[in-house]
Amino acid sequence: MMKKIACYGLIATVFIAISSFYTAPAGAPQKPVIRTIIIDAGHGGSDNGARGDYSFEKDICLDVALKLGKKLEQEFPEIKILYTRTKDQYPSIKARADFANANKGDLFVSIHVNAGPKIKHSTFAGYRNETYYTGKGKSRKKRTRRVPKYNVYYTDNPSNGTETYIWAADRADAKGEFVSERMTEEVNDSTEYAPDINDPEFKAKSLLWTKRFFDKSLALATMVEEEFVNGGRVSRGVKQRNEKGIWVLQATAMPSILVETGFITHRPDEDYLNSNKGQEEIATHVLNAIKRYKATTEGSADAKQGF
Ligand SMILES: [Zn+2]
Repeated sequence: MMKKIACYGLIATVFIAISSFYTAPAGAPQKPVIRTIIIDAGHGGSDNGARGDYSFEKDICLDVALKLGKKLEQEFPEIKILYTRTKDQYPSIKARADFANANKGDLFVSIHVNAGPKIKHSTFAGYRNETYYTGKGKSRKKRTRRVPKYNVYYTDNPSNGTETYIWAADRADAKGEFVSERMTEEVNDSTEYAPDINDPEFKAKSLLWTKRFFDKSLALATMVEEEFVNGGRVSRGVKQRNEKGIWVLQATAMPSILVETGFITHRPDEDYLNSNKGQEEIATHVLNAIKRYKATTEGSADAKQGF
C-alpha cells in the first residue's frame, strides 16, 4: 500500500488487555469458529501498487497470498479458503468486501507491501548569477544578482520491516453498519424472527459484535507481528488506520487484518519479498499466527500462550 511514513493513529497494544474479555466461559461447548478464511492479495491488474527498483507490489502480494492459501489448505483441510483474486486482475475494493461478506468469511487477511518515499537532500554548492529586470518601457533595466546554488539528490527511504493494520476502534460505528446487515441476514437464515435494526437490544448486540471483531482483529494482528519477530524480521508493530487505503477492513463483517509484509522501497526487503525463501517464510509466519488465533478462539488447551 502506498502511504506516508508518518505513524498513523495509535499503536494498538494498549488495548490488548481488553481482548481476553470476550472469550467463551470455561466449560462452554466449543464449536469451530473458523470455517471460512478470505485471502486478499492487494492491488492487481492495472493497479500495480507500490514499486521498487525492479518489482511491483501487486505481484508480490499475489505470490505471498497464494503461498499462504496453500499452506492453510494443507494445514486445515476442513476450512474453506477463498481468494479475492488468483491472477493479475483488479477486483474493486467494494467487490472484495462484498465477496468476503457474501461468503460469510470468519477471517479476512489482506496481503500488501509497504513503500516509503525517497528522501530529498540538498547541499549548498556556491553562488550563481541570476538575471532579472526592473521597470517598464524605456526605464526597463537588466540587472544581475548572486543567488545560492544547491545540489539536490535523493536517497532510498531507510524504512523496512513489517506492520499489520486493523481498522481503527474509533470507526467502530461505521463497521457496525456492515455488521448489522450481516446479523440481519444470519438471523433471517436461521429462524423466523426478523430483527428490527433500530431495536436498542439489536443495536447493542451489533455494537458488541463490532467490538468483538476489533478485539479479534487486534489479537490476530498482534500474533502476526509476534511471528514475524520470532522469524527474525523487523516489526513496526500493530497499527490502526481509518483512511481510504484500508477501507476494505471496515467493510468486512469479520475479524480483518492487513499485513504490510515489507518495504519494496528498501532494497534488502525488496530482494527478500521477491525471493521464494522470503515469500515462503512470510506465508509461514502468517500461517502460524492464524494457527495460534484459531486455537485461542476455539478454546483448545495450547491456546493461551501470549494472551
Ligand atoms: Zn498496498
